[in-house]
Amino acid sequence: MELLLFLFGLIWGSFLNVCIFRIPEEKSIIWPRSRCRHCNKNIVWYDTIPLISYLILLGKCRFCKKGISSQYPLVELLTAIFIIITYRSFGLTSLFGVYYFFVSILIVISFIDLRLRIIPDVLSLGGIPLGLMCSLVFKTIPIKDALLGALIGFGVLFLISVIYEKITKREGMGGGDVKLFSMLGAFLGYKALLPVMLIASLSGLIVGVTVMIINRSNLKQAIPFGPFLALGAIGYLFWF
Ligand SMILES: [Zn+2]
Repeated sequence: MELLLFLFGLIWGSFLNVCIFRIPEEKSIIWPRSRCRHCNKNIVWYDTIPLISYLILLGKCRFCKKGISSQYPLVELLTAIFIIITYRSFGLTSLFGVYYFFVSILIVISFIDLRLRIIPDVLSLGGIPLGLMCSLVFKTIPIKDALLGALIGFGVLFLISVIYEKITKREGMGGGDVKLFSMLGAFLGYKALLPVMLIASLSGLIVGVTVMIINRSNLKQAIPFGPFLALGAIGYLFWF
């Protein structure tokens, strides 16, 4: 069973890769077929096997031999690993489906934020009604918790970002982070907000300081906060 799920996770991961590249460009995620980002040739079907194709091609395009982004195998592997973790936490229940979809959205958001420093509204704002609906339909959490989560999540981060800007005169947290935090609140409830923020801040601080030391740069070269919020949500979901 787990092997089957893992294989499905790999395939689902290659679909998430398509979402990561196409959602910010507002292109269709179903059509057209994938092309090499360098030579624009259509990728032949036997080169689209998740993970395996990347390894066989040694990470290079079949035609122009330019590098294929290592994001492809990374996302595929992550997506497959998380299907196993979700399965072990929830079994084959409707909650499994709900939370695996939630984790999938977080993976897409994280990699878009890492690449482009933006979080598309369609994912963050769009996730808010989705989270509320899951509370009503699948009874993930009480609807009161979900509503409060969305409201408090938005309010708290909005306040923090306004105060931060007033004090430092520069933008710290983007509006995307505020909307994402609100969406996490809608899915996980208001009680999750504090632990999610703690995990996100702590991991963000550790990575931020490490990057600073390695690059000898200052924190002005801000690293995106979205992936850490996603990490906080995933950590809360599975280990709290
Ligand atoms: Zn190529």
